[in-house]
This record gives sequence, structure tokens and C-alpha cells, in this order.
Amino acid sequence: MFENLSDKLQRSFKTLRGQGTISDENISDAIREIRLALLESDVNLTVVNELVEHIRTRAIGEKVATALSPSEQIVKIVHDELVNVLGRDTARFQKASQPPSVILMAGLQGSGKTTTSGKLAQWLKKAGHRPMLVSVDVYRPAAREQLAIVARSISAQLYEGKLTDSDIAKPGTDAVLRLAKEAKRDAANFGCDMLIVDTAGRNQIDASLMDEMAQLKKLLNPSEILFVADAMTGQDAVNSAKAFNDLLTITGAILTKMDGDARGGAALSIRHVTGAPIKFLGTGEKPDAFEPFHPDRIVSRIMG
Ligand code: GDP
Repeated sequence: MFENLSDKLQRSFKTLRGQGTISDENISDAIREIRLALLESDVNLTVVNELVEHIRTRAIGEKVATALSPSEQIVKIVHDELVNVLGRDTARFQKASQPPSVILMAGLQGSGKTTTSGKLAQWLKKAGHRPMLVSVDVYRPAAREQLAIVARSISAQLYEGKLTDSDIAKPGTDAVLRLAKEAKRDAANFGCDMLIVDTAGRNQIDASLMDEMAQLKKLLNPSEILFVADAMTGQDAVNSAKAFNDLLTITGAILTKMDGDARGGAALSIRHVTGAPIKFLGTGEKPDAFEPFHPDRIVSRIMG
């Protein structure tokens, strides 16, 4: 049977009951289990090393509380340290002084950006906002059509805009910026207080994508830049989070496909590497398969 981290820790400490303190020797098995479990959950190596050091320092010499066995105590320390890394920030949004507040969605193609833009619009509507959606992916008509379908399905405002013949013949950043600018004006005219901008993804990070994102940021002055990451891609998600953050300084991340079997260690790594909070999780393909992030739930998922 699958043995989770909590069980493994209980086992490695079985013999310790009643010994009073956790020491360097008796903690080494537990530390090995913790390290393995974190690596298996896609937490990146640097983060694992730092965490393990924190856990070791905190645990060693700590008097076993009379109410807790050493194993229970180490489980609690690991739990607390993981929650600490993830932080306690919730899904609150920064607002612009003048509406609309722009939420710029960033991420690689296939990460779930378009689906998540729709989910976010629906979530904001339920929270009493009037969001507008726009796709500035001038390169892939199918991507803009996909967002239009999503917007219709949740009855959200959409800025469709029009591309000129030359935009279609030679799509590029000028058309992207023009659409974005028009959408912001349209949102203000329609009394929409939030504008969610779904951007063009790429299969990988390249200079032109990054340049376009930087120009969009400059033009729109977004209140939020949310990095959308596919939880199933583990370490790759962390590397792209870092690249996007280095360029754009993201304000938060959304981890999609958490309904799959990813254990969610990417959340820890992304948080640690970018310093930005994870704000939401995507848990399915439907617009309502979306929830504000709760560190405890990811920690339970990692620890079992
Ligand atoms: P984009 O290229 O980044 O805009 O990605 P899409 O929004 O088109 O999503 C890519 C695929 O992932 C689609 O088939 C979505 O239905 C799917 N998807 C997005 N978010 C989730 C999620 O949270 N769970 C699951 N199971 N699938 C998702």
C-alpha cells in the first residue's frame, strides 16, 4: 500500500517514543524521508535543501512536548515549515486607482491560460465585479475564438476587436498592443472594473514573447500579473515562473490541473523562487473548477 510521508515519519520514529528529545542521529532517517517525499512531489532541489535544513535545525534538541510523540512532533514541524514557505496570502487583488484594474495573464501555451482567464472572470463576477475579457493572441485566431466561447458560456463581457488585413497577414506586437489599448478603453466605457488580458503563449520562452509581455506591462500598467502554470509540468513550471518573474515581476501564480495526480510541490517552488503567492488552483476543465489557494491543502497533499 502507498505509504505517505506522515506514515513514513511515524515509522522512522517508532523506536523513539519516550526518548525525550530529537537528536542528530535519530532524525537522519526522517530527514531522508522528508527529502525524498519533497523531491517526489516536484519541489525543486534548492528549496528542498533549504527546507530540510530549517526542519533539522528546528527539530534537533526540541523538547518533546508531553502531548506529542517525536514522530508527531516532526510531522508538525514539517507541516509548519511547508505552510511557512507557501505563505498565508489569499486571493485578494490589487486595484488600480482608476478602473479598470488590469489583470495580465502570463504563461506558456497549454498551461491553461485561456481556461483560467474564464474561470477568473466567473469568480470575479460572483464576487460582485464586472470583469471584461480580451485575448490579445493575434497569432492564433483559434485562441481568440476559444476565449470568445468561454466568455459566452459564463456570460462575461468580451472585447473582440478587429484585426486589419495587414495584422492578419503579418501578426505582431503592434496589433497586440493596439487590441490591448482598445480593450482597456472599452472596459472603462462599459463600466467594467476589471480587465483580464489573455496573452499569446509560446511553446517555450523566447525573446519575442518576453519583449511582447514587457511592452504589454508598460502599456497597461496592470494591477496584477498572474503566472499560470500547469502543475503536471513540475520543474519546468518553476523554471518558466522564474523567467517570467525576472522580466515582469509577477504578483501571483495560478496552478492548473490540480485535479491530476501532481502532488503540488511546484506550488512550493514557485512561491519560493518568485516570492509571489499562489492565488488560485485550477481543478478541472469547467469554469467553476477553480478555488482560492489554501496552503494547508497543498501541504496535506504533499504529506498525505
Ligand atoms: P492555454 O494555451 O494556456 O490558453 O491553455 P488552455 O486554456 O487552452 O488549456 C489547455 C488544456 O488544458 C485545455 O484542454 C483545458 O481544458 C485544459 N485545462 C486547463 N485548466 C485545467 C485544469 O485545471 N484541469 C484540467 N484537467 N484541465 C485543464
